[in-house]
Amino acid sequence: MYDAIIAGAGPAGLMAARALKSKNILIIDPKKEIGLPLRCGEGIAAHKFQEIFGRTNFPFVKNRPTRHRIIYGPLIREFGMPMLELDRPSFEKWLAEPIKGALRLGESVRDVSVLRDSAKVMTDKGTYQAKLVILAHGAHYAIQERLGLMDQDPFILACVGGIYRCKNADPNTFTYVFDEKNKGYFWIFPKSTNLVNAGIGGFVRRTRGLNLMSLLEQHLKEHLGDAEKVSQYSGIVPAAAPIKSYSDRVMVCGNAANHVIAGTGEGIYFALKGGSIAGQTALEALEHGRADSGFLERYQRRWKKEYGKALRFGIQFRDIIALGYKYGALGGVFSGPSDDELHRMLSDEWMPPRAVAFWRIARLFGMLRSTERKRLPKSFLLTYKAVKAFLPRAP
Ligand SMILES: Cc1cc2nc3c(=O)[nH]c(=O)nc-3n(C[C@H](O)[C@H](O)[C@H](O)COP(=O)(O)OP(=O)(O)OC[C@H]3O[C@@H](n4cnc5c(N)ncnc54)[C@H](O)[C@@H]3O)c2cc1C
Repeated sequence: MYDAIIAGAGPAGLMAARALKSKNILIIDPKKEIGLPLRCGEGIAAHKFQEIFGRTNFPFVKNRPTRHRIIYGPLIREFGMPMLELDRPSFEKWLAEPIKGALRLGESVRDVSVLRDSAKVMTDKGTYQAKLVILAHGAHYAIQERLGLMDQDPFILACVGGIYRCKNADPNTFTYVFDEKNKGYFWIFPKSTNLVNAGIGGFVRRTRGLNLMSLLEQHLKEHLGDAEKVSQYSGIVPAAAPIKSYSDRVMVCGNAANHVIAGTGEGIYFALKGGSIAGQTALEALEHGRADSGFLERYQRRWKKEYGKALRFGIQFRDIIALGYKYGALGGVFSGPSDDELHRMLSDEWMPPRAVAFWRIARLFGMLRSTERKRLPKSFLLTYKAVKAFLPRAP
């Protein structure tokens, strides 16, 4: 019997495994090679990376842009915040190095059942037993559903993107282009002066010949000219509130627990941090000989203390962006915050109090729930205009 089995060798699973490396563990993942295929923009705030690893001078850090540019039609907002653009496959290989002996690649976890003295992990190749299980298998929810952890429906966004060679990249700027057509955003994260990671995510209806791929191509042409494709990816990212993240013998982290800023798709930091907290908690559980939900509840308390507020900000940001798109008011959303507020929003996940008040009012009127379910009350527009009239403007 294993001390712990970890489903998924992405950032969350690998961090959990690193915390548990002195134990008898197994990490199961269907992919053939750690880090591949790439399905990510590969950007992370420098201060967040530094907080976890104590330094940022690694060979897999490919670029260090310091500016951010938000574009929405004619509106352009810029602010400073140091970022790192990673080579994520190399980063994950580095993460896996200390625990590579415990990896089982090419195998997929199908289900988990909790017994009195252990947990049973069923894969496409066999069945294993462990004292506890950490689910870090990305934005897939069937196992969490069967374990009774899903207190809401899954809500995910589709993304497509790739690595492109181009002539006119600004190596110091992360660019985000918001667009009515895809109700999401297109990003350009530079790796150097002539190489970028660019992609698009959002809600696209397959009508009028539009799909994410054609929108990506339009944006690439508009913003990067004749960009040459080096590689391409597609992926999904959670855009919902965190689910319950523990039960008897089980903890859930990273995308599998919706630990992502719902409005932006930022999830690497929360996967690293949450995976590490799950691993530390598992270590304590093994040392105390306890893996019941009463003991594992501390895992949820701990991640909430570290980044629960940031995930709440993500939900508010997601809802405000969705309402902005729905009512053609996104310009107001982006022009409203002052430069300092914009910086605080995107670096510290802080929401200006007037935006929180607006979000609460919108929730009170049932507008937000219905945004996702497409049943907005007619009274919304009037309320929105009334509230907007009282919002202070940036100078
Ligand atoms: C297109 C795109 C761009 C993004 N860009 C950024 C960005 O620039 N910055 C940022 O911070 N975040 C970004 N994100 C989000 C970020 O990639 C995720 O939040 C982060 O990877 C979550 O890490 P994770 O370990 O929880 O999950 P994942 O990275 O998804 O890893 C899950 C692992 O589980 C494995 N797995 C899947 N099914 C099973 C199974 N049945 N059994 C066992 N293993 C399984 C997978 O193979 C994978 O290795 C982006 C996401 C997408 C889709």
